[in-house]
Order: sequence, then structure tokens, then C-alpha cells
Amino acid sequence: MRNLEGRVAIVTGASRGQGEAEARLLAQAGASVLVCDVLEAEGQALVRSLADEGRDARFLALDVSSKQAWDGAIEAVRAWKGRLDILVNNAGIINRKSLDDTTLEAWERLIGINLTGTFLGIQAAARLMRENGGGSIVNISSNSAFSGHYDPAYTASKWGIRGLTRTAAMEYVDWGIRVNSVCPGLIVTGLNANASHLKPMIDLTPMKRSGTPEEVAKLVLFLASEDSSFITGEDFLIDGGFTSGAAYRRVAVESGLYER
Ligand code: NAP
Repeated sequence: MRNLEGRVAIVTGASRGQGEAEARLLAQAGASVLVCDVLEAEGQALVRSLADEGRDARFLALDVSSKQAWDGAIEAVRAWKGRLDILVNNAGIINRKSLDDTTLEAWERLIGINLTGTFLGIQAAARLMRENGGGSIVNISSNSAFSGHYDPAYTASKWGIRGLTRTAAMEYVDWGIRVNSVCPGLIVTGLNANASHLKPMIDLTPMKRSGTPEEVAKLVLFLASEDSSFITGEDFLIDGGFTSGAAYRRVAVESGLYER
């Protein structure tokens, strides 16, 4: 277990799914974690369960699309611990509509949470991080940010997060702040538990399964910790080989190329 004793972390969208697993693992590694989400009851339950394990965590209601809410979150963490070392910009929603069926309202809501929320989080956190000599920011993008995809608003937001990650990494490197992105493939959570695309995605994934929130959390922990101290501005795919060449692999399998 990587040691985050004395470190202070914010995880957004942390009440359930991948964010919950990330907050739990960072806390188990010794960090004090501010669990931030719009879902209050689930977030409070996570904080209670971490307290039962002897971990240090607090819940804060935070809508990541609000600048005012971010300012409040940074002041809350300053008052709580006086420092911030880790930010995981994890909160996100999907639209799962074709381009023709994406309304302007749905587009703006999704971009407001996924992309503007990440921008606001980076900007707010970096102010406090530079006061304590640096930190690590991990932005949750997606493997849909490596190709075209069937949800245009979601895809644009996740490509945007990759660009924002590199830009922030270059701007903040002198302050000791590293910024990286994590790009998961199919991870079964509340976001997609009943979605019709699960089976075709699993069939096409070279590893023939979905990933787990805990697998993503381990990568986030690595990037949050000093073990990744020479890494900044990078994207980390975690998708069972999907982006590496799932389509060509299928061609090879179906054309008998891999028969042994
Ligand atoms: P999830 O289970 O739906 O969890 C996301 C959490 O964020 C929920 O608690 C959600 O609350 C919260 N949230 C939504 N809008 C928010 C806002 N404005 N401010 C603060 N919190 C907000 O989703 P997940 O699968 O764990 O996804 C986590 C991240 O991974 C997302 O950025 C997602 O795009 C990304 N990702 C997921 C997958 C996947 O296959 N699951 C793949 C690639 C990338 P509500 O339930 O009220 O919306």
C-alpha cells in the first residue's frame, strides 16, 4: 500500500462508483479525504464506513459545475487541514444519445459537469496546492477520448479533459503540481449498469470482461502518490486492451489468423 499519511485529498463524484473506490483507497493509504458529490446520503454513508475503519474522511456537497461551490470546497479543505495535496476530478455524467438526438440543453449540461467541472476543479485546487509546494491532480477521462464514439457530448468532454490535462501539466510544473488523466474503458457502475451496450463492449474487449472500480482506483492511487513522481501530462488507458486494437484483433480472430 502506497503511503499517503499526512496528505489531503479531494475526490469528486465520490459517493458511488469509481469515485467511491478512489476515495476509499486513498483514505486506506492514509490520506485525509474530502468526499465530494451531489449525492449526500451515499457520501455520508461512505464517510461513516471509512470512520469505522479508522480512516479520516469528511463529506462535502459539491456540484462541480459551480465556481462558487468550488471556492467553498477549497475554503472548507483549508479550514479542515490547511493544505491540499491531491485532487481527483472524477465526477461525470453521460448522455448516450446520437448527435442528431443531442439537444443543446443536454450538451451544455454535460459539458458543464464533465469539462467545465474539471477546469474549475484544477483552477481552484492549484491555488491551494501551490501554497504547500505542489500536489497531484488526476482527471478522469475515458477511452472514448481516443476515437470517435456514439455519445458526442460525452466524447467531446473526455477529449477536452485530455487537452486540459496536458495544458495544466505544462503551466503548473514549476509549482510542483503534476497533472495526469486516467482513461477507463467499460467499468460497470451506476452510470451504465443496465445499458444495452454492455454485452457488445465486453465481447469486443480483448480481455473479455469489464473492469472494476477498484482496478481504476489503484491506478489513481499510483498517480496521486510519489511513486509517479516523474510523470506529468500523460493519459493512462485502463480498458482491457480495447484501444490497443480490439477491432484488428477481432479481424484476426474471425479470419483464423490466430488459430494454433
Ligand atoms: P457513477 O457511478 O454515476 O458516479 C458518478 C458520481 O458523480 C455520481 O455519484 C454522480 O451523482 C456524481 N455527479 C454527477 N454530477 C455531479 C456534479 N455536478 N457534481 C458532483 N458530482 C456529480 O459513474 P462512474 O462510472 O463511477 O464514473 C466516474 C467517472 O468515470 C466519470 O467521469 C465517468 O465519465 C468516467 N468513466 C466511466 C466509465 C464507466 O464505464 N463507468 C468509463 C470511462 C470513464 P448522480 O448519480 O446524481 O449523477
